Amino acid sequence: MFCHPSLSSSIHWFCGLFFLLLQPVGYSAVQNTPPSYWQLHVHYSMSVMLDTANHHLTGSQTLTIKNTSPDTLNELYYHLYYNAFQPGSAMDVRSRSLPDPDRRVGSRIQKLSPDQIGYQRIVAVSQDRNPIASFSISGTVMHLPLKKPILPGQETSIELQFQAQIPVQIRRTGRHNAEGIDFSMTQWYPKLAVYDANGWNTDPYVAREFYGNFGTFEVNLKVPQNQVVAATGILLNPEEVGHGYSALSKPAKGWLTWKFKAENVHDFAWAADPDYKHDTLRVPKGPLLRFFYQSDSTLANWQALKPYCQQLFERMSATFGPYPYPVFSFVQGGDGGMEYPMLTLITARGNLDGLISVSFHEAIHNWFYGLWGFDEGKYPWMDEGFTQYATDYMLHQIRKEEHPRKSIIATYKMLLAMPNRQPLSTHADWYSTNRAYGLSSYIGGAAFLEHLTYVLGEERMPQFWRNFYRDWKFKHPNPENLIRTAEKVGGMELDWFYREFILSTHTIDYAIDSVWKSKEGIAIRLANSGSFPMPIRLRIDLKNGNAQNILIPLDVQRLHSNLSAEQKTLSTIAPMSPWPWVESTYTFELPIGFQNVQSITIDPDGYLADIDLENNVKILP
Ligand SMILES: [Zn+2]
Repeated sequence: MFCHPSLSSSIHWFCGLFFLLLQPVGYSAVQNTPPSYWQLHVHYSMSVMLDTANHHLTGSQTLTIKNTSPDTLNELYYHLYYNAFQPGSAMDVRSRSLPDPDRRVGSRIQKLSPDQIGYQRIVAVSQDRNPIASFSISGTVMHLPLKKPILPGQETSIELQFQAQIPVQIRRTGRHNAEGIDFSMTQWYPKLAVYDANGWNTDPYVAREFYGNFGTFEVNLKVPQNQVVAATGILLNPEEVGHGYSALSKPAKGWLTWKFKAENVHDFAWAADPDYKHDTLRVPKGPLLRFFYQSDSTLANWQALKPYCQQLFERMSATFGPYPYPVFSFVQGGDGGMEYPMLTLITARGNLDGLISVSFHEAIHNWFYGLWGFDEGKYPWMDEGFTQYATDYMLHQIRKEEHPRKSIIATYKMLLAMPNRQPLSTHADWYSTNRAYGLSSYIGGAAFLEHLTYVLGEERMPQFWRNFYRDWKFKHPNPENLIRTAEKVGGMELDWFYREFILSTHTIDYAIDSVWKSKEGIAIRLANSGSFPMPIRLRIDLKNGNAQNILIPLDVQRLHSNLSAEQKTLSTIAPMSPWPWVESTYTFELPIGFQNVQSITIDPDGYLADIDLENNVKILP
């Protein structure tokens, strides 16, 4: 999602048959997911009709659920997101109670009139065609006791009839957005909550993030013929609709049913507007990019955006794993930028730099959110943080923007300095301010990856992403799964790193305590005054212009002989013994003439969010 433009000007704030050909060498088909891992399989078949005059939606949904869990399911939960757009809803109350509310929500929900609110009414429910009358709805969550329990390994079908009113555009979804897009159709259908190893995930919608079951969506959208539709998935009947999907141009009369299908996705979004200009660009050996926008003052920016998007998909696929879907759509709509599978809704009336940044961020979500289906409520730092990290590096590579590490670490240190800081393990909805949420999730996650790179070694990161992709695409990896992948790639223990970075509010603070001339040559004493221990990289600059690099492992890493090639080069001097994490100092001697040393620097590449940098460099006389 796009959010918090006010936090920092140096960081961008936001918030996405040829498939086989896309698999480059190195993406082995052999997966390494724990054998106990499971996730539900869902298949949505929906048909809806959009009444554009009254902004109503009438629909039917058949949801086939395969219970791949080891548990018997006696009940189901659904999200009915439109119900959030009513005075007194959890989203309304939460927005009005936060000290720094999102301006796009504020107290707007409280002021909605009956024809402006959103609602999702369930008209009828049945299970395998046997009616269920006893469901109940509380705000945005529906509880559905089942007629017949779904045993492990069994399948059932739930048929729903629903009637919805599309709210005025407030947050992500709704009609008639500020840029004149008629319908931004997100969070628009009754959506099954995720049942996972933690049970049901039934968070009420209070404006933040999502979590959905992977599956197939087959959606028929019946709209007036003049509407141009953009949606998740592949259009199955392009020759019937025209509108840039086929060369055919259709008369603007009557109704048209658009048929979309998407596989291996966990949500379905669409947008409709009669004024959409629609054109495409094929990424070589990659997806077809579609662009839907209004032919107004933003036209030149949309044209300029396209080649950057092509480069983005090429570089993202090479760095983090191939984009796994055949198409991606950049769609003008919504209220900023928001990611959906195979599609993003973005507003476009800013400058070109802003349009490129937001387009990059939201498209990149199709890796960090899309193919890795993180629980965005529990782990916002994985979803937003990793997206932010990749966005910054892609902007650096493609647009030659400044290398992002310095800015990520500096902004992260603003978070570390906040009074009453909440750990990164805080649920997205439960941060006590929007600012804390923004810094923690966007920058916290980006800083996490910088520190992981520091610990694993830069050269191991490509293998880390390849393995994480191989093992967890189209699944719901949690932080422990990610750490496990890193441990295997790095040949080291990382439990301590995860605990300190994510579950605690501890901070890093190392210092060069003292340096003196010794019998061997030079003696150095380092001090750990922080609460978060780390391995230490040290550079010794010599007066003759050469430098020596040293790596001091942390005892709990259990590195043994598993030093990577990079780490071996890092330690240009004999391997150092590990620093026990309980020890506050570490003293060692090197066979380097004291008089030859110019300076000694901790973390010379600036990876660490060391809260006091004053004592990290020692310049010798
Ligand atoms: Zn985002």
